[in-house]
Amino acid sequence: MEHSKDEEHDVPGVTPRELFSLLGNETRVAILESMWELWSPESDPYNREALSFSDIRAAVDVRDSGNFNYHLSQLNDHFVRQTEEGYRLTNAGLHVIRAVLAGSLTDPVNVDALETGVPCSYCGTVTILRYDDDHLYLLCPNCPGHTTSDRWPDGILASFGFPPAGLQNREANEVLQAGLTWYDAKTAPMMEGVCPECAGEVDESVVVCPDHEPLEDGVCERCLMVRPIWLLYECRNCRYWRIFSLERFLYDRPPVVSFFFERGVDLVDRRRETASYVLESDADVTSDDPLTIRVRLPFEGDVLRLGLETTYDSTEPFGHYGGNPSVYRGASLSVTDYEVVSDR
Ligand SMILES: [Zn+2]
Ligand SMILES: [Zn+2]
Ligand SMILES: [Zn+2]
Repeated sequence: MEHSKDEEHDVPGVTPRELFSLLGNETRVAILESMWELWSPESDPYNREALSFSDIRAAVDVRDSGNFNYHLSQLNDHFVRQTEEGYRLTNAGLHVIRAVLAGSLTDPVNVDALETGVPCSYCGTVTILRYDDDHLYLLCPNCPGHTTSDRWPDGILASFGFPPAGLQNREANEVLQAGLTWYDAKTAPMMEGVCPECAGEVDESVVVCPDHEPLEDGVCERCLMVRPIWLLYECRNCRYWRIFSLERFLYDRPPVVSFFFERGVDLVDRRRETASYVLESDADVTSDDPLTIRVRLPFEGDVLRLGLETTYDSTEPFGHYGGNPSVYRGASLSVTDYEVVSDR
């Protein structure tokens, strides 16, 4: 295998399958684990201090030194790097160990129907937290939540992958709060085009229901969603993806933050109390090329009006919800103008 010595973690020319097969051995996994145990983040925050061959060997406790040498050399350059001073874990090696720790602290965990104390942002009913198959679900027992699509559980308000370690020593509402923090931290870099899992490039798209018409239960028959505009982000490298509401995007915009803050609402506090992003909002597409969106955020007699605009490379149908929205590929939204007007 040919590769450059100065690459920190990406080793060109090695397939994921080859990397997985390198880990398919008990001694090699034991080497990584021992190196992680020997490493101290306090004394060596940048993981630069090398471990000696004999220290690692003593920690792994392998009798046959030739065998040990072979397995350590197999890990070298991918998960372990050998320098003149000794051996240290690479970023990829640390990632492997951390992925194991995130998932292995507990036996498979399922949590059914815990009351959170946080009201549904649509109907005010106390929401339910469920943990199933490594995913956290926030559900409303009383209304459709965001969608009636059968791709999601009834009453869905949020769902995302969440490691079992996040459930350790936490009550239901603490798990929810940890989940919200985790989710916000994962989605923030995606809106800037950076994957939170691998740092790769993220493709951005805007999903719009062209003929959005909510019925009595608030759900549109055509797209099966309550809200007409969604943002879709997909990593080109590792396929990490997220789809989330326009409100997630608005939550971080300075005009929105300051509009609410000047009126005594800290959106971060409010996010913790309600598990939603902004107060009531409505959004419409006013032009197709460039894609232009007008948003209204009313609050106590005032309205923050925002103009959002984006150019895009192509459009195509979006069948994900079982409805008929359009997806604008390569669309990167920005706020073009805003004003506060009186609603009285
Ligand atoms: Zn509800
Ligand atoms: Zn619709
Ligand atoms: Zn990625």
